[in-house]
Parts: sequence; structure tokens; C-alpha cells
Amino acid sequence: MMSTKSIKEMGWNELVIGAAVYSFEGNINYNVSEVLPEDRHYAETNSKMAYVGDWRVFKPVWNSELCIDCQNCWLYCPDTSIISRDKKMVGVDYDHCKGCGICVEVCPTNPKSLLMFAEQIKNEEALTQWPEKTKGE
Ligand code: SF4
Ligand code: SF4
Repeated sequence: MMSTKSIKEMGWNELVIGAAVYSFEGNINYNVSEVLPEDRHYAETNSKMAYVGDWRVFKPVWNSELCIDCQNCWLYCPDTSIISRDKKMVGVDYDHCKGCGICVEVCPTNPKSLLMFAEQIKNEEALTQWPEKTKGE
């Protein structure tokens, strides 16, 4: 029997075999890659519409004073949670970041421009705890 639930209300095991889950609403008559994420019409079932930041235990905090906009973090983030515009780092998308720490690992500055902090620490407080430059590196 056909379900009257919206696809967002259904469990994974309620989807019928062959069900199509579309990423965008309606007909896409534009090149998605040329449209900023905030201007795209994501479907409600797109993972972009789900808040998954509560899985995180540690979060990356960005220090804009040290950042050289190299884009390494943007390139390597497995969850497209680094926000960059016109090749300039803008910040972290905490709604989707999982706290894996890869962005911190690949940040080349000394000290790093991204560091992991416990989720409950406020970013302003984290910025006051930044380490000094390491000598000899
Ligand atoms: S911690 Fe992981 S998921 Fe979050 S921004 Fe960094 S690389 Fe992306
Ligand atoms: S990797 Fe580090 S220096 Fe490069 S853009 Fe990201 S935060 Fe800035």
C-alpha cells in the first residue's frame, strides 16, 4: 500500500525498492556548480538540509588572524564543511562539520589557523587560548 507519509517522515526501511531521492527541488535549469550553496533549491531529503553537527565532540575553531587562505582545509574536508568564497576562507559550517580534524591536520601555518577544541568551549574563548609560534619550524 502506498504510504501517505512525506519522505522525510519515513524510516530507511519504509522506502520502496527503486525509490528515487532527489537532491534538488523541481527541474534544475541551471548549472548547480555555478550557484552558491545558499542559493540552491535543495530538496528536503538532501543531507544539506539535515543538522548533523550534534555528532561532534570536538570542533575546529578558525583563527582568521593567522590564516593565509591557502584553501587546504576546504580541499581536504570530507564533508564540505569549510566555507570559502572567492578563494577566501569564510568559516566552518557547524551544522554539518563532524569534527574529524582533517582540516587542522592539513593547515600549514605556524601556529595552525584551525585547531580542535571541545565542543562546549565558546569560539571567542578558544581564540584566547591559541598557542605561540613553534620555534625552528
Ligand atoms: S573537522 Fe572535519 S568535517 Fe569539520 S570542517 Fe574540519 S575537515 Fe571538515
Ligand atoms: S588550511 Fe589553514 S591557512 Fe589554509 S585556508 Fe584553511 S585555515 Fe587558512
